[in-house]
Amino acid sequence: MDTKILSGLEASKALFDGLLSRIDNLKSNGITPGLAAVLVGENPASEIYVRNKTKKFESLGLKTDLFRLDSDVKESELLNLINDLNHNNDFHGILVQLPLPKHIDSEKVLNAITPTKDVDGFHPENAGLLSIGKPRFVPCTPKGIMYILNHFNIDLNGKHVVVIGRSNIVGRPISILSSLKSLGNATVTLCHSGTKDLKYFSKQADILVAALGSPEFVDASYIKKGACLVDVGINRIEKNGKSRIVGDVNQESVTGVASSLTPVPKGVGPMTIAMLVENTVLSAELLLN
Ligand code: NDP
Repeated sequence: MDTKILSGLEASKALFDGLLSRIDNLKSNGITPGLAAVLVGENPASEIYVRNKTKKFESLGLKTDLFRLDSDVKESELLNLINDLNHNNDFHGILVQLPLPKHIDSEKVLNAITPTKDVDGFHPENAGLLSIGKPRFVPCTPKGIMYILNHFNIDLNGKHVVVIGRSNIVGRPISILSSLKSLGNATVTLCHSGTKDLKYFSKQADILVAALGSPEFVDASYIKKGACLVDVGINRIEKNGKSRIVGDVNQESVTGVASSLTPVPKGVGPMTIAMLVENTVLSAELLLN
């Protein structure tokens, strides 16, 4: 069986093409969508993630400012900055790059972002709206997964979606999106570290979402023939003295068994950035209503 590669670069390009007219419409109404990115400390991976995000905003002619704070910043100073940004009309989205230093309560900081600028979709108000089937800002990675599947005509309706991982930013929201009648309308099984006999469930999946953060964990023995695999993992490993990024799926092992898969890199990753842009545009559009 040929295993089709579901390119996140191709799907994200289609999304950006569609966004251009929405951005033009906003600009003709005097609104340039703007993102405030907040980076605390000097974590090299966070630096790269934030740079990739802000570069994308700039390339689309959108406004983006980076607010850098020292790693020993007081939590109250960070909360004051969030409060200022909540009231700054130049910014329609606020992104706080995680992880934050240990002395800062991340939940408190994320909950301080006003829900209408919460373009990461982490605020309890947005999580609640999603869980009752009225999504507003949906976390970018699961939203990107829904887009890439739709782009490649992979229909979830009536299918069995099995998700490995139940985090609030990936596993749980993708399980909700897949199950919503108005979106995926799939039957969903959510697996986690407490799941007994993971293979029993994963082998039933028509669509398997691997979001556990364990390098190349899912091999051919975890899937049924013809399954579609969504690989969310980003794991840095050392092999033969070289460092490289791999997903949660062992691509070599599943090739020829899976019908399709999202590669790592260039699969779900580009979709996450694309959806951050989409959510920021959406936030700016709320001002038009
Ligand atoms: P978390 O560590 O927050 O969650 C991992 C989840 O997987 C947990 O629910 C955990 O269970 C479960 N789990 C861990 N090991 C196993 C196992 N052996 N069997 C079954 N379940 C297991 O990770 P995230 O959700 O934040 O991220 C997951 C992966 O996706 C990471 O590699 C991350 O880097 C990547 N990622 C990629 C993004 C992208 O843009 N492509 C964006 C965000 C994340 P329990 O709840 O019991 O602990």
